Amino acid sequence: MIKAVRGVHDILPAEAAAWQHVEATARQVLETHGYREIRLPIFERTELFARGIGEVTDIVQKEMYTFEDRAGDSLTLRPEATASLLRAYIEHGLHVQPKPVRLYTMGPMFRYERPQAGRYRQFHQLDVEALGEEHPAVDAELMMMLVELFRALRLADRLQLEVNSIGDAACRPAYRERLAAWLRARAGELCEECRGRIDRNPLRVLDCKNPACRPLLDTAPAIRDALCAPCAEHFARVQRYLDASGLSYVVNPRLVRGLDYYVRTTFELTTTDLGAQNAVAGGGRYDGLIEHLGGPPEAGNGFAIGLERVVLLLGRQQAVEAARPVALLIPLGEAALTRLLPLAEAARSRGVAVDLGYGARRLRAELERANKLGIGHAVIVGDEELTRGEATVRSMTTGQQRGVPLDKLPDELAALRGQP
Ligand code: AMP
Repeated sequence: MIKAVRGVHDILPAEAAAWQHVEATARQVLETHGYREIRLPIFERTELFARGIGEVTDIVQKEMYTFEDRAGDSLTLRPEATASLLRAYIEHGLHVQPKPVRLYTMGPMFRYERPQAGRYRQFHQLDVEALGEEHPAVDAELMMMLVELFRALRLADRLQLEVNSIGDAACRPAYRERLAAWLRARAGELCEECRGRIDRNPLRVLDCKNPACRPLLDTAPAIRDALCAPCAEHFARVQRYLDASGLSYVVNPRLVRGLDYYVRTTFELTTTDLGAQNAVAGGGRYDGLIEHLGGPPEAGNGFAIGLERVVLLLGRQQAVEAARPVALLIPLGEAALTRLLPLAEAARSRGVAVDLGYGARRLRAELERANKLGIGHAVIVGDEELTRGEATVRSMTTGQQRGVPLDKLPDELAALRGQP
């Protein structure tokens, strides 16, 4: 037997209803906030990600699925959506629209990571971007919308919003140097991974999850004290808007995020309910990235939600039921099947879910099947019923039966909807 590749997973029918619920809720919340969907390809030129995510990031250095196509071009399965979305934004001239341009997209992402619970090699993200607006209210509004989405899913009380500012090109380089020097002086006390990052990407060292490194790293110089005046002012305003909205959040000075392009605001939504994989969503501001990818010098801001983790959080207690048929139509023989097939279609075309036996099983077996599937009514049509032009409608809970004219059956089935 050929099995699925390590780190990828099937979404089976029992789980798909929860996915649909998350997706439908997200679309509803996003569209009331003025976001419109954009659908993007799952592979791009490798250089787009190298430039858009950053050469020294873990993603670009060791996690990309990169291949040559038959023409010898280097292509990569997207590890995240922002770079693709900005590529499309620039390529199609979407930046001429009134600002901010609000876009979202959903779909699979690919990273060669070590698989574990909540971490996959193919996983799904909902990616949201607000483009072309520098105002700090955009940062706050995005976070408010993110929390609103989880409120609508009734998960907000299991999540914490963490916020930080990581400065910009004016203040971060000096901080970066100071931090690298501080870390170099203490390299002996850090894990191997941290030591490897001191020169390449010292801010990422702050993010180390190794418990042996944490106490020392918690005493590292904080970027908060190194922000330039415009960055400090921006961050203060973001916090003021969040405070005014009553949103609860914590400032986490070690929240630096894995991607290279962030400036100023970074944020994450975390949970203690998923073990080591505690981040459910993350995002921030990336002014300058659009220009870096060949577009106009515009601001950018956004976040991505990991949908597997949302579905995991929803779990069983809120398992979402798939639509269950209101009735099982049971023809007893070929003539009854021929009569019931179009009637089943007529009911379905009115949005009523019905199931149909094909006359191949005995009545008793069909009734057992209706019970197993939790279907509330059976509609039985045999030769006798056909002669009378009727169907027998049987309640599976009480066993009561009554006759219904066959040509009234679609109306009758519509009326059964919503009854136990
Ligand atoms: P990132 O693009 O790394 O900021 O990730 C945004 C969100 O995507 C995270 O908060 C996770 O919820 C989710 N995520 C990232 N990597 C994975 C993965 N390998 N498997 C499942 N979810 C992931």
